Formats: sequence, structure tokens, C-alpha cells
Amino acid sequence: MAQEKVALVTGAGSGIGRASAIALAKDGYVIGALGHTADELEKLVADIEKDGGEAVVLVADVADEAAMDEAVTRLAEKYGRLDVVVANAGINGVWAPIDDLKPEEWDKTMTVNLRGTYMTLHKTVPHLKAAGGGSIVIISSINGTRTFTSPGATAYSATKAGQLAMAQQLALELGQYKIRVNAICPGAIETKIDDNTDIRSSHETEIPVEWPEGDIPITGGEAGLSEDVADLVVFLASDKSRHITGTPVWIDGGQGLLR
Ligand code: NAD
Repeated sequence: MAQEKVALVTGAGSGIGRASAIALAKDGYVIGALGHTADELEKLVADIEKDGGEAVVLVADVADEAAMDEAVTRLAEKYGRLDVVVANAGINGVWAPIDDLKPEEWDKTMTVNLRGTYMTLHKTVPHLKAAGGGSIVIISSINGTRTFTSPGATAYSATKAGQLAMAQQLALELGQYKIRVNAICPGAIETKIDDNTDIRSSHETEIPVEWPEGDIPITGGEAGLSEDVADLVVFLASDKSRHITGTPVWIDGGQGLLR
């Protein structure tokens, strides 16, 4: 049985998930690269292998029970263990006034972001328990945790607040199994998440204030990079964060303190 440590990253095909998978592979983990975009995942695995790492493509929708069961079982059986889970897959969905936001739009955001996170943990925790412990990192957001001004982002913010609540609740439940659970709360990060964002009627939901110029203090207004978040993922996955659990870590250059 292989003894390398194994990390599952959901939404690994792009952005924060891709950067986290690459950073964890560099740190010595075998990567289960899970997502629903096979071509992006294959490219990621090829890039990791080119760098001397090891990774496997797992095509699944995070909200689909049967697909997640098959993907997680395949990873755990192939490598004989699972140590780290990065629940990252997510969408911005539709941002709209509450009286215009359609039930199916609300449901879609809930399904991917919250049911997806639940399903990821539901299927992986048995393997972390079997490994004698591990680290779960949930990618939440400043939205819903210390920022409430993104126009019309009610459904998104609710899922991100829910993810933090899950991290805190589960940190207590899973402590006895030496499983740590933390939430990373990024501010604006340069990724392609805007492709999955549909903003309607923002003139009705915008907060009428003018942000100071350079509203991300540490960068003078520039968004962060996926690699900035990936370094934090590696830290929270590692034993260096061994006494940290149930904790939100905001990684936003100070943006969330202003907004
Ligand atoms: P992204 O769109 O580049 O990455 C999201 C990934 O998740 C994509 O690879 C996509 O294919 C995958 N995905 C989406 N739905 C899926 C599903 N149902 N099943 C499986 N995979 C699915 O965006 P990103 O910015 O890297 O987002 C990653 C996480 O970071 C999200 O949870 C997002 O809410 C969070 N986040 C992003 C920002 C930001 O500014 N980019 C800020 C705060 C939080």
C-alpha cells in the first residue's frame, strides 16, 4: 500500500482549486483532482506530472451523490488513504434583488456551494477517520462572513456563511478523530469565477457609498492571486497548523474590513 499523503481538491480545474492542487503536489501530496471539466483536469494532472508530482483526474459534479461516491472511493482505493480535503468547488450564481431572484437560481447556488460541500465531506470523512486524522479546508468567502455589500449576492453570501458554520460545527464534531476543519475566506481573487456570475439590476442592490481609492489596502486595489490562497491551503493542510481548527482565515488584503 502506498504511503504518500493524499489530498482531494474539488473544483481543481481552474482558479483557486488549480493553484491549490499544484501547491499541495509540490508539498508532496498525491492529488485527487476533482471537477466537472475533464479537459481542464487532464491539463492540471499533466502539469503536476511534468513537475514530478502525481495526480489523478476525478470527473464528478460535487452535488451528485453517486458520482462523488464513485470518485472518492476510486481515489481512496487507488492510494489506500486520504489525508486532506479542500472543498473549493463553487459558483457565484445569480446576484439579483431578492424579489427578482428566481427559486431555481437560489436552488442552483445552494446546490453547488452548500450541498456540494456537504457531499464532499459526507463522502470523505470516513476515509479521514480511517487514516487516523486529517485536515479539511473549506473555501468560503469574505461575502457572508464579514462583507455584505456585494450587490444582490444574497444566495451566494448565505452559502458562504453556511460553509463557515459547517467548519465551526464540524471542528467540534471531528476533533475526537484528529480531523481539523477550517474555512478560508478570500476577498477578490483573479480567477474565472466571473464566468459563473450573472448580476441583474445592481442599481437596485448597490450600497450607495464610494469606496476609498485602492479598496484593497495591501495592494492598492489589485485583486489577489490564486497562488496567494494556495499557500494558505498548504499551511492549513500541514502539521504547521496543528492547533488551528474551526477558524475562519480571511485572505483579502484587508478588503473585507472596508467593505
Ligand atoms: P473558478 O470558477 O475559477 O473555479 C471554480 C471551479 O469549480 C471550476 O473549476 C469549476 O469547473 C468548478 N465547479 C463549479 N461547479 C462545480 C460542480 N457542480 N461540480 C464540480 N466542480 C464544479 O473560481 P474560483 O474563484 O477559483 O472559485 C473557487 C472557490 O473560491 C469558490 O468556492 C468561490 O466561491 C471561492 N471564492 C472565490 C473568490 C474570487 O474572488 N475568485 C472570492 C471568494 C471566494
